[in-house]
Amino acid sequence: MIRPPKNKSNKAKTACFLLAVLIAAACLFPCCKAAEKRTATFLDYFDTVVTLTAYAEEDSFASMKEETEAALKKYHRLFDIYNEYEGMTNLASVNRMAGETVEIDGEAIALLELGIEYGKLTDGAVNIAMGAVLKLWHDEREAAKADPDSASLPDPAALSEAAKHCSLNDIVIDRANGKVLLADPEMRLDVGAIAKGFAADRIAGLLEKYGVPFMLNCGGAVLANGNKPDGSPWIAGIEDPRGGGFAAKAQIGNAALSTSGSYIRRYTVENHDYGHIIDPETLCPAEKLLSVSVLVPGESPAALADALSTACFVLGEEKARILIGKVPGAEVLFVTLSGEKCTTGESMIPQK
Ligand code: ADP
Ligand code: MG
Repeated sequence: MIRPPKNKSNKAKTACFLLAVLIAAACLFPCCKAAEKRTATFLDYFDTVVTLTAYAEEDSFASMKEETEAALKKYHRLFDIYNEYEGMTNLASVNRMAGETVEIDGEAIALLELGIEYGKLTDGAVNIAMGAVLKLWHDEREAAKADPDSASLPDPAALSEAAKHCSLNDIVIDRANGKVLLADPEMRLDVGAIAKGFAADRIAGLLEKYGVPFMLNCGGAVLANGNKPDGSPWIAGIEDPRGGGFAAKAQIGNAALSTSGSYIRRYTVENHDYGHIIDPETLCPAEKLLSVSVLVPGESPAALADALSTACFVLGEEKARILIGKVPGAEVLFVTLSGEKCTTGESMIPQK
């Protein structure tokens, strides 16, 4: 029996229809492969939130994400000053073995070298050798977290004693042999003021080979490798230290932004808030500003921005302006104690 020709043409029509659907789908959803804006968030490192945003293809972003996470894990462990990890020597090991020479990864040595450099640049306002003093405040803050009603301040005599063991000159580095010695056995390192910025710079270095625009936010140390694909700068919000909303909007091209303030990691004793950034002169929390943000352009700018924002917070507006003036292209935005916002450049735009 001969089939009616109608049937044959129906089949052909169906095939054509399916093909058209496939082509349309391919056009509408290009296999999720196209370079589009993608974001990944990491919650397990540096006691903070890390976000990577990039205009990348799916596969390429997956591998960027993997590399970022591996590096975060490495630096988080290596720069941990309180906990040691099996099978590796980290800064907590160096602290525990103060007085002895310790062999350590070259990246830890690079961080310490930068810390020493920034200590000199800021005239000691940021001091990675101040761990003994910072630990006394850290311990009180942690105890207050567990039991806020018994919150107390460190003993002033203990603070003065600890302050005798904070000399950067006692960090003795043997770069060629990958060794470090804390020559003062009572000295302790604390790299909290620069570690996230350093890690952000290193991760940015790893991600550069993907050749795509990205922005990395390492818990307040924000770095971009240029503008977005449309040519406009990345935008980051600078939190209002008094809460609710933003103090400023920052435009970040090939630069890094870092904010320091006492509105995070603080604790309360007898109705007074004590922040986590300590003034090496008074040995007490710095209280000259509500927050300060520093933008630094150029290559590997995040560690410097991180160090400068901590230093500026310690120094207060007047001295901070002088410090920022020493760094070509750097800008600063202050949120003063009265909540006023003032800036030295055009990249950070105060919000009403
Ligand atoms: P955050 O870590 O909250 O982003 P910072 O970059 O300003 O803020 O670093 C603050 C951390 O640096 C503190 O938690 C402490 O570990 C350490 N620190 C505090 N004061 C100083 C200081 N004057 N010099 C060096 N390190 C400091
Ligand atoms: Mg800092």
